[in-house]
Amino acid sequence: MGNILILAEHTDGKLRAATLSAVSFARKLKEAKGGAELHGLVIGAGASVADEFAKYVDKVSTVESAELASYQAETWSGAAKQVFEQAGADVLCAAATSTAKDLLPRVAALLGCGMVSEVATVEGPKTFKRPMLAGNAIGTVEVLSDKMVATVRQSEWAAAEPSGTGTVAAADGGAMNALGASVERVETVKNERPDLTEASVVIAGGRGMKAAENFAHLEKLADIFGGAMGATRAACDAGMVPNDLQVGQTGKVVAPDLYIAIGISGAIQHLAGMKGSKVIVAINKDPEAPIFSVADYGLVAKWEDTLPELTEKIQVIKSR
Ligand SMILES: Cc1cc2nc3c(=O)[nH]c(=O)nc-3n(C[C@H](O)[C@H](O)[C@H](O)COP(=O)(O)OP(=O)(O)OC[C@H]3O[C@@H](n4cnc5c(N)ncnc54)[C@H](O)[C@@H]3O)c2cc1C
Repeated sequence: MGNILILAEHTDGKLRAATLSAVSFARKLKEAKGGAELHGLVIGAGASVADEFAKYVDKVSTVESAELASYQAETWSGAAKQVFEQAGADVLCAAATSTAKDLLPRVAALLGCGMVSEVATVEGPKTFKRPMLAGNAIGTVEVLSDKMVATVRQSEWAAAEPSGTGTVAAADGGAMNALGASVERVETVKNERPDLTEASVVIAGGRGMKAAENFAHLEKLADIFGGAMGATRAACDAGMVPNDLQVGQTGKVVAPDLYIAIGISGAIQHLAGMKGSKVIVAINKDPEAPIFSVADYGLVAKWEDTLPELTEKIQVIKSR
């Protein structure tokens, strides 16, 4: 029985909440396999990430070197393969973040094994359900190889709770092959708000917001809730907001407690990224807009006529 290796994702020396969803998946898979140790893999981070991760798994392997300090698929995939073999693992998993979507297929190729992506449920040790066709169909997938790589859909897996204290040990990441590339600098988008995929409240705007400056209204509402901003592809493509706010099939998948969609029509590609939200509120001037088919609360109105008053009322309630 092989072990389950979970890739830790980290930012600024902290474990990302997405990794805790992967831990929940790994625990469920362990039940289906009828036993296995949960191993964590921390690449290119300080001890704080490994110590934090050790509260969730049996053992954490850390791999450190100058070449691994910044994410590079070529170097990280080699290190992941090496630790996978040292850990006696037959499964490598991570939440389906942009890094994992880039990295894990490469590790699967290096291991010569099958890969399943965006797992929503575990049906057996090698059988999983996953959304397909922008979430309009649920496919059952069986992995046929002995070893396996999996990404899991974060919105389908609640963050795991700590379970004890595992051990932390340095591992050998093997020879690095960066294919002649090196990271010159990393430009991160500074954001005071919570990460879009981890926020409990998301305020999202679409083309109906009309101009970049109008997103200030959504920022105000997001800040009252301590929430994140989201947007449609149309709003991002029009340059109203940065692309990293895009929610949907080709953007981020979110499932907050509250999703407020303003000036968003509700195209299937957008719904694919947010219809798992617990409560959906939509403001749209068109009563026929498809967003109302998934909304729990809908307001048929122009946002210009309603959003300022709504924001004011919510602010009063929140400040009580
Ligand atoms: C392969 C592919 C992948 C895609 N991936 C994504 C994705 O990941 N995410 C995504 O979002 N889209 C994606 N799209 C694009 C998607 O099909 C839609 O074009 C897009 O979601 C529409 O964005 P929107 O709702 O902002 O704009 P529109 O469809 O133009 O809707 C604007 C809405 O605003 C309303 N409105 C206008 N003025 C006001 C006002 N004053 N007050 C209130 N309401 C108002 C209108 O009634 C309308 O319903 C993808 C498309 C393809 C083909």
